[in-house]
Amino acid sequence: MASIASIQSGRFRVLKEGSRTSDQAMGPVVYWMFRDQRLKDNWALIHAVDQANKANVPVAIAFNLFDQFLGAKARQLGFMLRGLRQLHRSITETLQIPFILFQGKAEDTIPNFLRECGASLLVTDFSPLQEIRRCKEQICKKVTDSVVIHEVDAHNIVPVWVASDKLEYSAKTIRGKINKLLPEYLIDFPTLQSPNREWALKDRVIDWDGLIDDVLRKGAEVPEIEWCEPGEDAAREVLMGGKNGFLTKRLKNYSADRNNPLKPKALSGLSPYLHFGQISAQRCALKAQRVRKLCPQAVDTFLEELIVRRELADNFCFYQPHYDSLKGAWGWAQTTLLNHASDKREQIYTREQFEKAQTADPLWNAAQLEMVYCGKMHGFMRMYWAKKILEWTREPEEALSISIYLNDKYEIDGRDPSGYVGCMWSICGVHDQGWKERPVFGKIRYMNYAGCKRKFDVDGYIAYVKGLKKVKRKADDMLSPKAKELHS
Ligand SMILES: Cc1cc2nc3c(=O)[nH]c(=O)nc-3n(C[C@H](O)[C@H](O)[C@H](O)COP(=O)(O)OP(=O)(O)OC[C@H]3O[C@@H](n4cnc5c(N)ncnc54)[C@H](O)[C@@H]3O)c2cc1C
Repeated sequence: MASIASIQSGRFRVLKEGSRTSDQAMGPVVYWMFRDQRLKDNWALIHAVDQANKANVPVAIAFNLFDQFLGAKARQLGFMLRGLRQLHRSITETLQIPFILFQGKAEDTIPNFLRECGASLLVTDFSPLQEIRRCKEQICKKVTDSVVIHEVDAHNIVPVWVASDKLEYSAKTIRGKINKLLPEYLIDFPTLQSPNREWALKDRVIDWDGLIDDVLRKGAEVPEIEWCEPGEDAAREVLMGGKNGFLTKRLKNYSADRNNPLKPKALSGLSPYLHFGQISAQRCALKAQRVRKLCPQAVDTFLEELIVRRELADNFCFYQPHYDSLKGAWGWAQTTLLNHASDKREQIYTREQFEKAQTADPLWNAAQLEMVYCGKMHGFMRMYWAKKILEWTREPEEALSISIYLNDKYEIDGRDPSGYVGCMWSICGVHDQGWKERPVFGKIRYMNYAGCKRKFDVDGYIAYVKGLKKVKRKADDMLSPKAKELHS
């Protein structure tokens, strides 16, 4: 079987060199999948198979289910595991690559497996999150000298370390760098070939139903959502399905309606799939480019969000270790927030009051409840929601920690660089500029109810969320027909 095209050298970096002597036989290749949970359009998988075929050794995919990952609940874990179950089935049917699932600490399970099978190369996908970077550091220390470790950026279109070698200040400073590199990196994917060598290692049986039941029970506090079907097939349907696909049916309204919380289906709805790597942003961008002639403005706006804003978020988390704390804010923002730390707040709420949507602002409460019921607050409301938390807490660090806590607990796309940056942008002015100084906010951009009222039908949005609640009570289910209709 012919080996496939190699990935570009900038697409991966060597996390650990190996010290294999020329007479030592090459062992199998293992791909530890973490962030990019898909079979199609996955540069990390392409690289793993390519390396295995070149060395004429077998390849396996390993996935580690952490006992606890940044507080993920049934909502997020159920979505992830159902997607993985589908992925496992597709791999078994089409590729004959073993898929092995471990549970516990990846810094133990992965090195143990590498040792057990005598692997000589570990390929892993890239994530800028500190928890994963620490885990990879441990793995590098624990594996034997001969094991080489490659990290592939299979998430960003332009690999984060190629796009820029430093922390970027704003969309303006990274846009030109990314756009210059798009002709080189926004290319079609090669066909993923079968491995040359089959692995005698038998697929260990995975009790998917048992695992799903377990996470649903343990994380029951935040139940699953039903309007958003997990998995690669569903992701493609949302992108370009014949019935209600974003590029096929909904694109024309994107520029005009994307900031209207009453029209959630004007948005792509892709963030859950992008977050879990069930779809590749590169595939979304390639498909969007193909329909640009029909709606140039909508496609350009979408690509700005999908590429520039999303990859700017990865740049921030990659180069700023304090991406989820006030310490990560620019100097001017830290100073202005500090200068206004003792300003009198009109209201102060506790984390619990926020969580239960018990503020005096019905618009804020509606946004919070949309997130609790649907697992996806509208993008425009996310900004208003986080800024009001700054306004109504004792200090900015507390506001940041509450917003990240709630975001990661309820959003289906939480625990994502775009989430940390969204909260940092709203509360600490990251990637933004200074605005007219005012109480509490200092020079951080301000948003208010009156501004929302000018932009969209605030009462209509509040009524829409109330409708979700009624239906939820009636059906005792997170899914409301209205939510389904509006979000599908
Ligand atoms: C306070 C706050 C919290 C946020 N939390 C998250 C989060 O937890 N997870 C998450 O993925 N996004 C988060 N965002 C960013 C953005 O709101 C969501 O990506 C978007 O609403 C997802 O819906 P969509 O895919 O339908 O959006 P679309 O408008 O269709 O966007 C398409 C894609 O572009 C990217 N994108 C869009 N807006 C942004 C943005 N502002 N920054 C970076 N990338 C963007 C996303 O990958 C998105 O899926 C947050 C923003 C704020 C202000």
